[in-house]
Amino acid sequence: MSNQYKRMRQIAEEIRQLHGTPLLAIGAELEKTLDPLLTAQEIDVTGPVNHLIDHLNRLLSALPKTFGQRFVFDAALVLTLMDEWNPKLKLRRLALPAYDPRWGYRRLALPSLSRQSTLVFDLFLLPGRDALDDADLLDYPWIMHEMGHCLLHLHPSEFPDAFRVGLESHFRNLRLLAVADRGRTREKAAALRQAEQFWTPAEDQHWAHEIAFDVFALWTCGPAFIGAFHNTLRDLNPDPFVKKQDHPPYVVRVAALINAAKKLRFDSYLRGLSDTYRNQCGAVEQARKKNDLLLFAPDNLIRDCVDAAISVARNFELRRWREVDPDRFLAEPSFGLDLFAAAFKKSQTGSSNYAEWQHSVLGKLTASVTL
Ligand SMILES: [Zn+2]
Repeated sequence: MSNQYKRMRQIAEEIRQLHGTPLLAIGAELEKTLDPLLTAQEIDVTGPVNHLIDHLNRLLSALPKTFGQRFVFDAALVLTLMDEWNPKLKLRRLALPAYDPRWGYRRLALPSLSRQSTLVFDLFLLPGRDALDDADLLDYPWIMHEMGHCLLHLHPSEFPDAFRVGLESHFRNLRLLAVADRGRTREKAAALRQAEQFWTPAEDQHWAHEIAFDVFALWTCGPAFIGAFHNTLRDLNPDPFVKKQDHPPYVVRVAALINAAKKLRFDSYLRGLSDTYRNQCGAVEQARKKNDLLLFAPDNLIRDCVDAAISVARNFELRRWREVDPDRFLAEPSFGLDLFAAAFKKSQTGSSNYAEWQHSVLGKLTASVTL
């Protein structure tokens, strides 16, 4: 038996284990792809088949492995949020929660030998384990940032179009200044090029997109997102100045969030976040100068990016945050954005019995789901 054939048999066995789980439909699709190969008299094990086997392996390792109560809760929640953000956007597809140390989003395609008609689905990575006690509703507004990744996959041009003018004129001006500056060093020119690369939206892993998704989450979850962001900043205490291609430094994200919160009139909720930011980043302006962040993230560029994101949220008619009474909500809980608003309000007003409130809400909602 060839090695490839053995690998295919192993994969077939893994797929069979999806029977009797909520991933049954995915399993059936995968079987449709794999079965003809398993029964074929001769398998051409070169190129496409090897590629397919690798793809199946990657896919199977990314799929959720447990289907406990939290999985049931999160699966229902994700689908509701996709509809609720704005049903006209038609975000809803096959979407699944999976558990990971950090929030995240991945778009996975089911493999196919024919190269066309690949079925795509969304995987939302949530922190913690598949146990209801691990769910922290005060952290959940982050899921709307991840939903931003999903939105931009389906509507890739709106945000880059809105940001383009500001972005291009900013870097054009900087280049003109650099030409005039005879003392300019080669390092400065390289830094300028890198900064432009960090900011230019392409795919979805760029600074501008990450900031836009934070703004979308703020638009939709309001103070509940400020709270979730603040908790992350406080708990993770990340190095605020790290520059990487996929995420802007926290010092930039916080500056953008504060700017957006003022524009969306959430200023009265900023106190805690601003204090933590000041403590962690020290005298921010000085620190930014020292870390050449003024070149990488000047105020006017952050402002333009936030403005573009707000205009896109408005054009997409994303649902906006609204206040929800937590006691009334407990009497008749529902999946969706009101859950975050009610949890936030409860944490503000009755923090001593917050845990009990969340426990009851999660219990009631989970009991109402049939997968
Ligand atoms: Zn992101």
